[in-house]
Amino acid sequence: MQSKDLLQVAEQFGSPVYVYDAEKIQFQYNRLSKAFSKVSKLRINYAMKALSNVAILQLLRDMGSGLDTVSIQEVMLGLHAGYEPEKIFYTPNGVSLEEIEEVNAMGVQINIDNLSILEQFGTKYPEVPVCIRINPHVMAGGNANISVGHIDSKFGISVHQLPHLVRIVENTKMNIVGIHMHTGSDILDIGVFLYAAEILFDAAKSFKNLEFLDFGSGFKVPYKKDDIETDIEELGKKLSKRFNAFCVEYGKELTLIFEPGKFLVSEAGCFLAKVNVVKQTTSTVFAGIDSGFNHLIRPMFYGSQHHIENISHPKGKERFYSVVGYICETDTFANNRRIAEIKEGDILSFRNAGAYCYSMASNYNSRYKPAEVLWMNGEGHLIRAHETFEDILRNQIPLPQAVETV
Ligand SMILES: *Cc1c(COP(=O)(O)O)cnc(C)c1O
Repeated sequence: MQSKDLLQVAEQFGSPVYVYDAEKIQFQYNRLSKAFSKVSKLRINYAMKALSNVAILQLLRDMGSGLDTVSIQEVMLGLHAGYEPEKIFYTPNGVSLEEIEEVNAMGVQINIDNLSILEQFGTKYPEVPVCIRINPHVMAGGNANISVGHIDSKFGISVHQLPHLVRIVENTKMNIVGIHMHTGSDILDIGVFLYAAEILFDAAKSFKNLEFLDFGSGFKVPYKKDDIETDIEELGKKLSKRFNAFCVEYGKELTLIFEPGKFLVSEAGCFLAKVNVVKQTTSTVFAGIDSGFNHLIRPMFYGSQHHIENISHPKGKERFYSVVGYICETDTFANNRRIAEIKEGDILSFRNAGAYCYSMASNYNSRYKPAEVLWMNGEGHLIRAHETFEDILRNQIPLPQAVETV
């Protein structure tokens, strides 16, 4: 998508608006498949919590993708988007046995991440094929909030509890068909990933009926200029070789699974917002946009640095700006950022707005959530209308009549 395309979208659908480039999503999907083309059974399950618009789910379904889901509602959305239940994985954390049973009844692959549920589920449904989430305790990830493999993490069954785990499996005679790990987002070092993979290979030897190994995700994509990204091609070369050797050792051709979210959709997305006000104070020039952390919370929540461009006047002299929102709290998108001179009414484009942006949006300050547009074959297709006042009122139940104040 070029700036002129983005401007056209802002013109046509208004601002603020999310725009996703279908080609970029397809490119990333094919890139990952290609990197692991030496593995004969590869499966990519899109982690839909990154961006759960039904049109995006359909786009990936048509490419042959499976889905990784973390809630029963995500499973329902996936089924609604036309995924076969067998293509959906359910990898929840801290949900009730009742929810797991309900999802199991839908024919979806269950992935269990604690010993208590494993024992309860295994006792009740010994015949159901189950995957187990192992925590290899490998520290990966750029931010403590998104690092899920470390020793204090709430995710997965500790690899140190393997003997206990195996005992539960033997006692219940349950059917373990896969083991899984997900060490968190933002893997910078392939060596760390390969090290965690070794722990998974080792754990896999304790189970005789495996069909797949799921290596989760956490691939890092560049956000800022000169950012490092996970070298997928290099990882593909090394892990494929090791995986194929492991299959020989295990005596069976297993399926290798990944479940990327950010890698597939982050760079495909742009968030467009209009500058309402340029405010010069004694020390700072603020550019105040028609949005806030209600639409894009990552900069405030994770400290993410989304590249910002002035697509209305890209050639202007660069100046330093603090880009802020209209929420009645501090909601700073960027501090002291060099951006081509901004005039009121200009459209700013935020990059890397595909993953964990719209899906984390809220109605804080009773603002509407923005529209979403898919850019495909040279034009913008509306895939979610922006909200209206009806949406704000939906499900609210007013008192039957005015309440007298005392
Ligand atoms: C969130 C999540 C992913 C996707 O992580 P990314 O960093 O977006 O690739 C994969 N697997 C599980 C279990 C997750 O919770």
